[in-house]
Amino acid sequence: ASDVTLEEESSERIRFLSHHDELTGLPNRAMMQEFLDGKLHSRGEANSTLVMLSLDLTDFKLVNDIYGHDAGDKVLGEVAQRLRNCLRATDLVARQGGDEFIIIAPAIHKKEDIRTLCQLIIAVINKPFIVSGNEVSLGVNIGAAQSPQDALTASDLLRYSDIALYEARNLGNNSFVLYQADMAKQIVQRRELENELREAIKENQLFLVYQPRFDIRAGCINSVEALVRWLHPRHGLLMPDQFIPLAEESGIITDLTDWVLVNACQDIGREFNHISVSVNISPMEFKASDVIARIKNVLATTHFPAARLELEVTENVTLCSPENAQIVMQELKTLGIRLLIDDFGTGYASLYYLHSFPFHGIKIDKSFIFAMNDSESAKSIVEKVIGLGKDYNLEVTAEGVETQEQLQQLIKYKCDIAQGYYIGRPVS
Ligand code: C2E
Ligand code: MG
Ligand code: MG
Repeated sequence: ASDVTLEEESSERIRFLSHHDELTGLPNRAMMQEFLDGKLHSRGEANSTLVMLSLDLTDFKLVNDIYGHDAGDKVLGEVAQRLRNCLRATDLVARQGGDEFIIIAPAIHKKEDIRTLCQLIIAVINKPFIVSGNEVSLGVNIGAAQSPQDALTASDLLRYSDIALYEARNLGNNSFVLYQADMAKQIVQRRELENELREAIKENQLFLVYQPRFDIRAGCINSVEALVRWLHPRHGLLMPDQFIPLAEESGIITDLTDWVLVNACQDIGREFNHISVSVNISPMEFKASDVIARIKNVLATTHFPAARLELEVTENVTLCSPENAQIVMQELKTLGIRLLIDDFGTGYASLYYLHSFPFHGIKIDKSFIFAMNDSESAKSIVEKVIGLGKDYNLEVTAEGVETQEQLQQLIKYKCDIAQGYYIGRPVS
């Protein structure tokens, strides 16, 4: 004989709050867990498969930093809405915390359908958001794991979709990866190699080889490129492509570059009076502002003249925070250091950057030189790229020169410098 409406309503509300994320109204982790357990236990009935997607927004932190947390909250609300709109009624999207979301789609069986869903999600997140009157674009990375193929329990599914997400992040913005059986093992191996690489730098397991660069104009060798090698105690000799990407992902690259810089400057400074040395730098190092201080430090400790140091960086350096990269490069130039674009023609630089960035020269990628054997048009391309570089007042190096014919052609095209096995292999 009493009215319990209010009580009922408030316990409803408490139930709702304990199962939903306040900000987005999406189910929270607890509810996702309940939903998942329910689905996994009802296995054996009609819909026995499900896919879990782990999503992580990219560049969301920037929204918070630039426009404030209120704006960030609004964007998260809109992301939640957009995600709901791409799903079916039987699917669940939950906020995992921060800018991470989980989607559980019980009706999906085929890999093809998972891919389609991921592509759809990426497309809807990529559509610009309006934040305080400005257009802001976000990206998203997605990792997917399936039950029963990949895992049978909620915790394994979460772990595997998270591992797939980790792989997706490594592929770059707006990627998705479906979990594969050996990924967990690979991650453990990669962690191991990471730790070993840290040790390797301290214990001098790394060493440098030098490849001559032949100055066609002067008719002599007046510079060399330093290339790093790792003599691994168990795996033997490792080439840079086997550990540089790992060093870049894990942040070890700064220590590695410092090691290479110091040793290259010491070696060349001790052995020669006039030869310059070029060192490869990862584009991501230009993001950090300490690169100038690091290089100044190396020059000071090794007493190596800045004018004999060249830095090679792929043209993608212009992609990540171009303004900052430009400032850093200008300072390096002021120090007297020369900057070369490595693997020219394989990256994403626009011609605009050729004169707006203070580059001293370009190194035409070896694939262009190799192709000269095959066709007249490939030769003509090399000739024109050399002309283009010169029109921008850049010193042009051709990489991957393996035959006398190639060298003859390059001389004819007035290329400035040649590098490759025909001139000389990398040597200690
Ligand atoms: P890169 O800077 O373009 O270096 C040239 C690569 O081409 C070297 O391979 C060299 O051995 C190879 N090469 C040179 N001439 C020829 C040729 O005539 N024919 C063929 N087939 N290959 C030739 P390596 O030493 O394996 O280095 C691979 C890449 O690893 C380098 O490409 C560079 O991007 C990176 N790398 C090497 N050392 C370092 C380093 O100390 N730091 C960083 N960040 N990256 C490095
Ligand atoms: Mg190079
Ligand atoms: Mg190269």
